[in-house]
Parts: sequence; structure tokens; C-alpha cells
Amino acid sequence: MSKEKHCSFCGRPAKNVGGIIAGIEDSGICASCVETLHNALALSMEDDKRKKTESLFDFEIKTPSQMKRILDQYIIGQDAAKKTLCVAVYNHYKRLKAEMLKDEEGIATENEVSDASTAADFDDVEIEKSNILLVGPTGSGKTYIARTLARMLNVPFAIGDATTVTEAGYVGEDVENIVLNLLRAADYNVERAQCGIVYIDEIDKIGRRTENVSITRDVGGEGVQQALLKILEGTVCNIPPKGGRKHPDQEYIRVDTRNILFICGGAFVGLDKIIERRSSSKLLGFTENADGKVETKSSILKRIQPEDLVQFGFIPEFIGRLPVVTALEELSLEDLVHILTKTKNSLIRQYSKLLAIDGVKLKFTDDAIEAIAKKAIDFGTGARALRSIMENLMMDIMYELPDDKARHEVVVDGARVAQVYGAGA
Ligand code: ADP
Repeated sequence: MSKEKHCSFCGRPAKNVGGIIAGIEDSGICASCVETLHNALALSMEDDKRKKTESLFDFEIKTPSQMKRILDQYIIGQDAAKKTLCVAVYNHYKRLKAEMLKDEEGIATENEVSDASTAADFDDVEIEKSNILLVGPTGSGKTYIARTLARMLNVPFAIGDATTVTEAGYVGEDVENIVLNLLRAADYNVERAQCGIVYIDEIDKIGRRTENVSITRDVGGEGVQQALLKILEGTVCNIPPKGGRKHPDQEYIRVDTRNILFICGGAFVGLDKIIERRSSSKLLGFTENADGKVETKSSILKRIQPEDLVQFGFIPEFIGRLPVVTALEELSLEDLVHILTKTKNSLIRQYSKLLAIDGVKLKFTDDAIEAIAKKAIDFGTGARALRSIMENLMMDIMYELPDDKARHEVVVDGARVAQVYGAGA
């Protein structure tokens, strides 16, 4: 007598479920269980996808104003640049998140409201990536803002230097090295790296030499712009797993740069003159705006147009890939004082923490702080000089303090700064 088949999942007999699809040995499955499993699997895949996207962006995308409030705790001044960057970064990650969540089944994208316009209404519209160009003097916070943004978003971050990049085929660093640095920062997690931020420094140095009088080294030029252009617009880079030179038999890690946000920065010495010439202003160094007010270099730079960058020596395609342009200001004495004292991570707080570990209180008098800021201005490298000045001032103290157990307070005053840097400090 043949045994009646049952569904191995729901246990119902074949006659009640319209037949069984046979499996190995005595097992089998009925049509209704196949459907249930199919739905469960689809839901779990959808859930996995969501979880994966959320783990890549383990942040709720903050609004531009929320982001700026966080940046304000670390970065002094540069209001216009911070605002522009927050909007650009917000749009970039919003676009990326929506793109990743959208799949063939059409998972609804963020902010879908029945009677408002929805992302689905624009399915055929592709939002292009907007890389960013930061123009501003050395030590004004270009790298720091980019780094702080990446940390805030918890995405991998890497810094590249445009002057080390060479045209393909020349000895030097390949553009792929920049992407390799990002991959390292992402612990070789390709998907995370593909959503990271890369800061490319000294981008001004790869303007064509003929137009750019400020260049002293013959680095870069059009070939390098072409090479960088590729990764800016999106290409698949073949990265040797352990870095270094490429080898024909090697297996490469493939990293797509399409969704990597590139922030390029440079001092662009001489660009203000180009802008001035274009707007045919009269005076050198200072010029007057429409209200008759004297304009500084920084405010001239705010009027930057793509054509000025062409004049500076950039090919239009390259500029086209950096549609968000913003200028940073030279930091004032007051800004430098605030950088020393007011930011969350200020140098004085850092040294205070260091000494507090030994139970010593560190105090800087107002005149000392002002003298340090003035000294930094003399160095002409923006806030960069602050660290070395502070290190010099603190050196002897940090050398002697651990032997002096009776001391519980250190005061650094103007006289101390004058002692280290001379009376003019
Ligand atoms: P650059 O504009 O040359 O890229 P950085 O961002 O590297 O300058 O600045 C060097 C350091 O100076 C930073 O690491 C940071 O500590 C400090 N710094 C520069 N600008 C600012 C700023 N606007 N606010 C706070 N700190 C700043």
C-alpha cells in the first residue's frame, strides 16, 4: 500500500493541497507553502537591504542646519563655507540613501506624502553628484571642515594631495592611490569606501602653468586634471590589494568612485586678481564693492565664477565636476583667539586635559592668548601655526612638571610668551 504524501512544511496531505512538489527522499512541499516562503524570503531580502543601507549610513541624515550647529562647535568663522558644505553634503547623502533604498519593487523613498510630490514622480531624473571646491588661504580650516563632516557622518575619510598625482604612465602616484587611502580608512570594506569622503589638497597647483604665475613647480597641468577628472565623475578603480605598484597577474579590488564625495581645496594665490580683472575693479589688493565699501581679498574670492578658474588654468570639464564652490576667509586675530579658547577641541582644552591627568590646573592669561594669536598671524599660516607655538610654550613646562609633585597650577602669561618668542610677541 503506497503511503500518502504530506507537505513537509505544513503537514497537510497531498489531496487537501492540490498536490505536492516532491523533494529528496520522502519530503515535499505544497503550493501554498511555496508562496508563503517566497513572500517571507522577499520580505527578509528587503529588510536585509534596508539594514545594509542603514549600516553603511549608521546615521539619521541630519538637516543642514543641524549639521552646521555641530560644525560650529569645532570650526570658528567660515559661516558661508560651512553653510554651503552642509547643504551639499546633505543633498549628497540624501541622494545616495534614496538611491540605495530604491529597488526594483519600488520601496518608497523618504518623505513620501500622498498629496505632495514624491521621489517616484521623478523616477526618470538622475541627480548628479556635486563635488565641492574650497578656496581659501592655508590654515583657514578647509581640511578640518571636510574631516569634521566625515567624522560627524561616520563615513570613511581620506586626504590626497593633487601635486603628487601624475598623468597615467608617468612615475609618481596614480590617482588610484587616493582611492586606496579611502579603502584603508574603510578597513577594506569596499561598500563603505564607496560612500566615503575624499579631500584633495593643493588642487590649485594643477592649474596649467602658463596661466598661473604663482606656480613654482611644474606639477600637474592638464594631464593630471584629466586623470583626476575620471575619479571625480565616477570610474571603477582597480586597486592592488596591498597598495603599491600594479602587477599584471594581480587580483584587484574594484572600487566605484561614482558615489564618493570629493572635496577639493586650495589657496589659489592670485585668483583674487583674476576676479578683480574680470569685474574690472580699479585698486590692487583692495577694491570697492557697489556700496562703496572696501573689499578684502576674502570678499573678492566670494565672487568667484567658473570662468575665473578657467583663467587660473583649469579645463572646463574639470570645473564642471566641482559645481559647488565656496570661499573661506583668512582667519582674524579674534578668530584665532576663539580657536584657542572656544572650540570643543581647542588647543588650550587639549593641554589642560593633558595636565589634568597629573592633577595640575593649566591657566592661560588673556594677554598670553592674544600674544599667541598675534604670533600665529606673523607666521602667515593661519591656525596651523597655533599648534607649534603652543607646543613650544609648553615644552619646558611639560618637561619639568612631572618632577614637581608639589605643583598644582601652571599659569602661562604674556611674559612667558615674550620669553619664548621675544619681546615683540
Ligand atoms: P587648510 O585650510 O590649509 O586645509 P586646516 O584645515 O588643515 O587648514 O587647518 C589646520 C588646523 O588649524 C586644523 O587642524 C585646526 O586645528 C585648525 N583650524 C584651522 N581653521 C580653523 C577654524 N576655522 N576653526 C577651528 N580650527 C581651525
